[in-house]
Amino acid sequence: MRKIAAGNWKMHKTAQEAKAFFELFASLVPQAKSEILFAVPFTALPSAVEAAQGKNFLIGAQNMHDEVKGAFTGEISAPMLKSVGASFVILGHSERRHLFLENNAFICRKLRRACEENLRPILCVGETQADREEGKTTAVLQTQLSECLEGLSFENAQKLMIAYEPVWAIGTGKSATPEIAEQAHLICRTALAEKWGKEAAKKIPLLYGGSVTEETIEALIVRPNIDGVLVGGASLDAQKFANIVNRIN
Ligand code: PEP
Repeated sequence: MRKIAAGNWKMHKTAQEAKAFFELFASLVPQAKSEILFAVPFTALPSAVEAAQGKNFLIGAQNMHDEVKGAFTGEISAPMLKSVGASFVILGHSERRHLFLENNAFICRKLRRACEENLRPILCVGETQADREEGKTTAVLQTQLSECLEGLSFENAQKLMIAYEPVWAIGTGKSATPEIAEQAHLICRTALAEKWGKEAAKKIPLLYGGSVTEETIEALIVRPNIDGVLVGGASLDAQKFANIVNRIN
């Protein structure tokens, strides 16, 4: 499997800023070996998709609703994202869970919808600092995975990516050590294998996210169960993200 470098821009960059970013970024990664993904704000999707054409970058969104249309003021649906060229969507990011109170059942419905509409979901899971201190990391990850993936077919599981993002590492500058990340990825891989079998589980990319930088990438990406990274802050700067991408073999 090719390694994956995914950027999550969160609520940053206008359409014009996105265009300028891609012009510079493309010139900095001429020999990238990884698959490169950008989850951009909804309003930047068309310009990002246009800028990414012929460059092998995949463009996606950071959230969506589970219904395809209806009276849901301020929401956006999978067909709408597809219509402007999004090919994947982040679901269950910890900021959605904690700031917007999304629960596993809602995330599960979104996930099934994304798969039905052929948008590849990146499902985010991860424990809080308190969960870790109380020895609950394994249980939290297993519950998030089983509840968010409930009812997902074997066929749709092929479209899935999982991001392990410990809440205490997101935006804090305190990345998980490669040992901690690998251990958590193994817990996820085992849970996926129990659900869909070992071979299928091996093919589901497991990304690590949480304060990844050009200093931490190399030690993380060589771990056997770390198939890629999901990068927040450092993906906003073309040079910094290029430095991460160029360190992935
Ligand atoms: C994220 O938002 O998914 C993330 C990992 O952020 P950061 O890299 O800034 O910790």
